[in-house]
Amino acid sequence: MTHHEPTQPADTPRPTGRSTAGRRAAVVGSGPNGLTAAAVLARAGWEVNVYERHSAPGGASASTDLLGPGTVVDLGAAGHSFGVASPVFRELELEKYGLTWLHPPVPMAHPLDGRPAAVLYPTMEQTVAGLGRDGAAWARLHAPLVQDIDAHLENILGPSLVRLPPNLLSMARFGVRALWPASAVGRAVFREEPARALFAGSSMHAILPPSHVFTAAFGLIFGALGMTRGWPVAQGGSGAITDALAAVLSAHGGRIHLDHEVTDLRELGGADAILLDLTPRQLLALEGADLTDRYAAHMRRWRYGTGVSKVDYLLDGPIPWTDPRVAGAGTVHVGGSLAELQHAEREATAGRMPDRPFVMVCQQQAGDPSRATGPAAGKTVVWTYAHVPGGYDAPVEHLIADQIERFAPGFRDRIVHRVATTPSALEAWNPNVIGGDVAGGSMGGLQQVLRPAPVLSPHRTGTPGLYMASSSTPPGGGVHGMAGLHAARAALADAARDRTRTRTHREDRP
Ligand SMILES: Cc1cc2nc3c(=O)[nH]c(=O)nc-3n(C[C@H](O)[C@H](O)[C@H](O)COP(=O)(O)OP(=O)(O)OC[C@H]3O[C@@H](n4cnc5c(N)ncnc54)[C@H](O)[C@@H]3O)c2cc1C
Repeated sequence: MTHHEPTQPADTPRPTGRSTAGRRAAVVGSGPNGLTAAAVLARAGWEVNVYERHSAPGGASASTDLLGPGTVVDLGAAGHSFGVASPVFRELELEKYGLTWLHPPVPMAHPLDGRPAAVLYPTMEQTVAGLGRDGAAWARLHAPLVQDIDAHLENILGPSLVRLPPNLLSMARFGVRALWPASAVGRAVFREEPARALFAGSSMHAILPPSHVFTAAFGLIFGALGMTRGWPVAQGGSGAITDALAAVLSAHGGRIHLDHEVTDLRELGGADAILLDLTPRQLLALEGADLTDRYAAHMRRWRYGTGVSKVDYLLDGPIPWTDPRVAGAGTVHVGGSLAELQHAEREATAGRMPDRPFVMVCQQQAGDPSRATGPAAGKTVVWTYAHVPGGYDAPVEHLIADQIERFAPGFRDRIVHRVATTPSALEAWNPNVIGGDVAGGSMGGLQQVLRPAPVLSPHRTGTPGLYMASSSTPPGGGVHGMAGLHAARAALADAARDRTRTRTHREDRP
């Protein structure tokens, strides 16, 4: 087992010694939620130990030189509209700990066949101007969110979507738009394909067909975030978010134990609170969790969703998009019209690999030149994934390349090197990514609002001192740390009320 020792910035506050609160927490998993939970508890004076099975921290917020010396490749998350907007990342002052958000000139673009791409610009005015006849309708649909984005973020990123939201009026305004399928909203509100596709493309972050209820929520949120907070990348790779979180934790005396897979919670003896950055299937596999029969039954009912299959490319220049504006976009939604997106996602959800899958492309270098330097200088690193049926391990590289080539003829000629990562390989790297599901469980049906179980306090497991902190809990997937914050707050509240029974298990220790 090794320890992770992040470098400290000179002005970093040093730990004040043994926990003033006298409490101890163990966190299983060092993804953004696990590290956020750990940092929040350490800052509150708890003694915190994080256990991570991998040799590096960060879960799906990590980067390496996968494509060779001088390259920086995001192994999981790439674009950070939620990261830059995250209240807890702001509260933890990650920028003081080395994190820099870099904004590409265009947050997101959606190329189309035989016509200019639809483009989400950094402001509503620019976006509206680019959407022609649908500009006014775009403005009407998004204005309530754009004008009041903080209130909406507070509602959406809260600890439970079934509680009374803090900003009731904003939630009501959001709800009347968000409840609908994105396809229905797109067709009802817009007259032309560009606005329909632009909206539906953002809704694909639900990883559900846009004909599902509630998918309009994703279209609205991602569009509004892009036009207000932007859709940045992390300078030097998404691993920089992890490094900053680890630095906050270390500054408050917390420790990360790498190469330490937890299989039995009794080995964490003495912790007042155990916070699990795991999905329900992994919780069920743990020994010593003492789950109630009822909670275990909820965990067994948990459904995992559509997967992703990833391909990272090294090119000898930028992607030759037909519409040159797409080259300035950090995130590109590749899949064509609304009808095509709907068909592709329906097929993937039904377990059939579509010929023309929905492909997410991230061009980090549009904002961050440090992604290809030294021996890789002059090259372009491109991150892509296709939505595929959960666990679909057959090659999809040719389908991804076909989709990009469709809107960027000559793309294939620029490929110098590529690395494909199947759903199984993603899961072997990070067991939370079950079958390639990047959201810790399907966002379909009731799982969108009742994560991970139909209970009032979703970060408590019903077992005293045991908390769920992962993206399987509200507010769901994405690198924002908010699930970790809510789990930590539940532990702090229980400790303050002295309800937490000490989980000693001392008698079980060798
Ligand atoms: C390919 C991919 C692309 C993505 N793209 C984006 C994106 O562009 N933008 C975005 O915001 N989000 C994106 N996401 C989603 C985002 O990365 C996740 O929602 C987020 O990382 C979830 O954080 P987490 O802390 O809940 O879990 P994870 O990040 O999954 O971390 C879980 C950690 O727990 C560890 N672990 C598991 N079991 C054990 C055990 N028994 N003992 C010890 N440690 C254990 C794992 O090794 C891992 O480090 C993407 C995810 C993937 C996989």
